Amino acid sequence: MGARFPLTAALLLTFALAGWSVHAQTVQTAAPSTVPAAPQAATPDLPRVRLVATGGTISNKTGGRLTAEELVGLMPSVGRYARPEFEQFSNLASSQLTLDQWVALSRRINQLFKEDPGVAGIVVTSGTDTLEELAYFLDLTIRSAKPVVVVGSMRNPSTLGYEGAANLLEGFRVAAEPSARGRGVMVVLNDEINAAREVTKTDALRLNTFQTRGYGILGVVDSDRVMFYRNVEKKHTADSEFDINAIASLPRVDVILTYQGATGDLIKAAVDQGAKGIIIAGAGAGATSGTQGEGIAYALEKGVFVATTTRTGSGRIAARQRPANALPPPAGQRTRSDRAIAGEDLAPVKARLLLMLALTKTQDGAEVQRMFIEY
Ligand code: ASP
Repeated sequence: MGARFPLTAALLLTFALAGWSVHAQTVQTAAPSTVPAAPQAATPDLPRVRLVATGGTISNKTGGRLTAEELVGLMPSVGRYARPEFEQFSNLASSQLTLDQWVALSRRINQLFKEDPGVAGIVVTSGTDTLEELAYFLDLTIRSAKPVVVVGSMRNPSTLGYEGAANLLEGFRVAAEPSARGRGVMVVLNDEINAAREVTKTDALRLNTFQTRGYGILGVVDSDRVMFYRNVEKKHTADSEFDINAIASLPRVDVILTYQGATGDLIKAAVDQGAKGIIIAGAGAGATSGTQGEGIAYALEKGVFVATTTRTGSGRIAARQRPANALPPPAGQRTRSDRAIAGEDLAPVKARLLLMLALTKTQDGAEVQRMFIEY
C-alpha cells in the first residue's frame, strides 16, 4: 500500500495536468505493476464513465494482474469519447468471485449511480468464463437506466493480439453513448453489443465466443459510431423489482443436467443439502431422463422449486408445461405443483440467478412463474 499511494498520486497529477477528471477509488486493492500511458486529454463536457474492475484474462498479465488504473492507461484515445474514472473491486478470475461479492458489486454500482448523478455510465471488467452470469445478475439488480457495460477479453495482456484494450475502449464508448440508455446491462467484446440476458460464451478459446443464439446482437461498435438495431423486450435494470440492498444472502439453487439414464439421486442430494431451488437443464423442450422424474417429485414434495430449462442453448420452455416424459408422482400425492416452473428461454445458469432472486421475494409459485415470463 505504501508503494501504491505515490504511484496513484503521480498519476492523478499527470491526469490533472492533462485536463482530465480522474477519480480513483480502490475497494479491494491489487498490486500495481506498471505506470499506464497518459491517455489523450478529455474535454470537460464529455460524459464521465467509471470503470469498476473485477479481474479476468483482460488484466491477467504474466507476472502480475493489471490494475484498474493500468487498464484505463491502455486506452490512449479514450479521451475522445469520455472522461474516465476507475476503481478496483477485485482482481480475480470470474469463477473465483463469490455470490456475496456479486451482491457487494451490485450494491456498489447502485450506490455509484445514486450518489454520483453526474456519472454517465459504468464499465465492469470481468473474466469471460462466467461473465454472462454476472452480466445477467447485474441486469436484474442494477436499478438505473444508465448504461452498464461488461467487458472482458479472450487473450491476456502478455499475448500477441491481446484484444482487451480494444474491448475496453468499446465498452467506454457504449457506456458514454446516450442511445445506450434503457437497454439493460450489455456485454461488449469483438465490436459487438449483446444483451446480458441473452448472450452466451459459446467457444472456449475463439475471440468471437460471445453470441446471442436465436435473437442476434443488439448492436455494433464501429470506428464511426455505436449503432443499435433492436431492444430487449424483457424487464431489466430500472424496471426491476429486485432490491439488492434488501437481500442479505442468496438462497442455494443448483443446476442439474439431463443426459441419457440420468439419476434422480443428484436432485435428491441437492435438496437434502439445502437447495431451495433446482434448475433442470433438460433435453430438447425440457425432457428428463432415467429417474430424474422421481428426483423432481421428491424436490417438489419437500417444498423446493424446480424450474425446467433446455440444455440445447436456445428455445423456450412453455409456461405450466410439465416435462414431456416426467414420471407421474407417486399415488396419493399431488399431481401438479405450482412450484414446478417453466424456465422460458433462459439459459440454465441464468434461470438459476432469476430463481435465486425470485425466492428472496416470494414462495408463491404463480409469482415466480410471472417473474420468469417478465424477466
Ligand atoms: N479464466 C478467465 C476468467 O474467467 C477467463 C477469461 O477471462 O477469459 O476469469
